[in-house]
Amino acid sequence: MIKYQPVIGLEVHVELKTDSKMFCACSADHFAKKPNTQVCPVCLGLPGALPVPNEKAIEWTQKLGAALGCKLAIDSQFDRKHYFYPDLPKGYQISQYQHPLAEGGKFQSVNITRVHLEEDTGKLMHQKVGDKNVSLIDFNRSGVPLVEIVTDPDFSSASGAKSFARDLQQTVRHLGVSDADMEKGSMRLEANISVGDKSQATSDKLPNYKVELKNINSFRFMEAAINYEIERQEKVLENGESLIQETRGYDEKTKITKPQRTKEEAQDYRYFPEPDIPPLSFSNTQLEKVKSGVSELPQGKRESLVAEHKIPEMYAAVLTRTEELSDYFSEAVKIGDKHGLVAKKIADFLVNKKTDIKKVSPEGLVKMIKGDGEKSSLSDKHLEKAVEDVVGKNKGAVADYKAGKEVALKFLVGQVMAKTKGQANPRKVQDLLSKKLNE
Ligand SMILES: [Zn+2]
Repeated sequence: MIKYQPVIGLEVHVELKTDSKMFCACSADHFAKKPNTQVCPVCLGLPGALPVPNEKAIEWTQKLGAALGCKLAIDSQFDRKHYFYPDLPKGYQISQYQHPLAEGGKFQSVNITRVHLEEDTGKLMHQKVGDKNVSLIDFNRSGVPLVEIVTDPDFSSASGAKSFARDLQQTVRHLGVSDADMEKGSMRLEANISVGDKSQATSDKLPNYKVELKNINSFRFMEAAINYEIERQEKVLENGESLIQETRGYDEKTKITKPQRTKEEAQDYRYFPEPDIPPLSFSNTQLEKVKSGVSELPQGKRESLVAEHKIPEMYAAVLTRTEELSDYFSEAVKIGDKHGLVAKKIADFLVNKKTDIKKVSPEGLVKMIKGDGEKSSLSDKHLEKAVEDVVGKNKGAVADYKAGKEVALKFLVGQVMAKTKGQANPRKVQDLLSKKLNE
């Protein structure tokens, strides 16, 4: 019998890909840039520097909030969150506490507590200079707009949290507000985990502690770290001991979590309204406009693909990974329809044959599928003939190519592709053409 019930919540940070930082005009694109080259008095936290909020970042946060089903706030404000750390030059972070931009949403049947906007911190770099270990600080990341998405503790398994985080990443990318790249740190995951004793728990009572997991930089590690933590906590409870509120980091090498520091209570941050930025206020018209700008989300698209085209859900999940692919599929379905080809066949081919949609047009794809079984591509002889014809008929482009204009080759490849109705392999066409032209 299962005695314990894991209670899991997520905190996800997403760096917005706006041109400039949250409160100054410095570039927000900080990845792999020379340290401390994109800084100014505002993002270095120098005395007297005044922050000016980035309108785009506010709008994008609202857009994300709307996409997650949140209520967008009419009145919002920035607050100062005080703590000391070397990567935070002001001694406080401009964040949101009491009046976030968006609250109370629902996404993938998980309750979204809040979506708020803050500034990112600088980055500490520990390295060896001479024979000394030193810590250096790069402030290029300081002040980059950062959105925090907090969920209610609605998850009861690591796999549930993982699939939510994946869907969230897809949504953020779909909205075009962030690359949400975990490796580059533009999406960062934290999980709060506690384990309740089923026999003692009343339906709405949560355990009186939670362990915050940090240092998670992939979905896989998140799943492993949560599972490790659930097991660890159950063992502690099993031994009749109690658990404490703490922050733990996941070590990828040893695959265990280790304590980092005990968690500050909210009041330790001494939040108060940011005096240098007036409160924000939005009209209903403004908020409606933001909401109407949110196009159909990948998850919705997935469901409609299944319903409309009777394709398996697994296929729909693959086909909605990018907007480009789902548009391509829709186009191919339209063309296939005219040729008596059902959508399922097209989906099947796209998913299983790993077709490169950059190289085969939707028409070409439909032809390939129809010809599948007879022959899926052209014979070499047929292709050579097409290359010869194109070279013969496009003397101008051939002369351009011979004069050193590389783009002429692209044009000729295009002509051969058109002639073969998209059935040829463009790489092969290019090879054949260059061979022919260099004869
Ligand atoms: Zn700056």
